[in-house]
Amino acid sequence: MALVNAKEMLTKAKEGHYAVGQFNINNLEWTKAILLTAQELNSPVILGVSEGAGKYMCGYKTVVGMVNGMLEELNITVPVALHLDHGSYEGAKACIAAGFSSIMFDGSHYPIEENVEKTKELVSICEEKGLSIEAEVGSIGGEEDGVIGAGECADPQECKMIADLGVTMLAAGIGNIHGKYPENWAGLSFETLDAVQQLTGKMPLVLHGGTGIPADMIKKAISLGVSKINVNTECQLAFAAATREYIEAGKDQQGKGFDPRKLLAPGFEAIKATVKEKMELFGSVGKA
Ligand SMILES: [Zn+2]
Repeated sequence: MALVNAKEMLTKAKEGHYAVGQFNINNLEWTKAILLTAQELNSPVILGVSEGAGKYMCGYKTVVGMVNGMLEELNITVPVALHLDHGSYEGAKACIAAGFSSIMFDGSHYPIEENVEKTKELVSICEEKGLSIEAEVGSIGGEEDGVIGAGECADPQECKMIADLGVTMLAAGIGNIHGKYPENWAGLSFETLDAVQQLTGKMPLVLHGGTGIPADMIKKAISLGVSKINVNTECQLAFAAATREYIEAGKDQQGKGFDPRKLLAPGFEAIKATVKEKMELFGSVGKA
């Protein structure tokens, strides 16, 4: 099945009170692990690509070529969207041209008027080309490709203003943070989330920084309208731990254990296990 945009899968998720996972990719192993897990669990999935990861993988065209090749050669039949994560205005345009099926325009660091203006323009391009588009209000805390955010809570009125521009899904800061959560983290602001949902109605809401948010908070967020949850760091930690274990056990020095297909296998399996755990928690299993 060819790439699809994220609109239908997220509309169904919002109506069905579950969430679709966005799992960020970094290379071939990541992409294959996520696609195979989605297929095995019959779950829709969104592959996230940050601008940094896009550059690392040699550019957006390489990413599109790799993903489209895998969809065909792995016989993937579940809905898959290829989504730019935290895109700049220029990055969004480049991904549209390269063949992504979905983009995020992160205009949260612009004054609201400029965020509105740029989002509007990208909404009309995406509409014309059949892509879905995510916008962000209120910066998400932590570091995302060098941009440090404070983890602020979005203004629900500003969320409504951006939602009304015709975006497909909306990321609202509700105290969430990218990367690992600090010991003294105050938790998600369900009050903010509830207020945003009241004003934005059917709009699927997006929760960034899914790594380390306790399961009960994830479930509560889904009950309050979150239909897309971004997972990135958790797969990286799982991959690194499994690879470390392999090397510390000296397995790379036994027989042909140095073969990258063997060396990267435990990390690959660890990503699959993490994605499975998340899809079960989010409730997207069997919803393809
Ligand atoms: Zn994010």
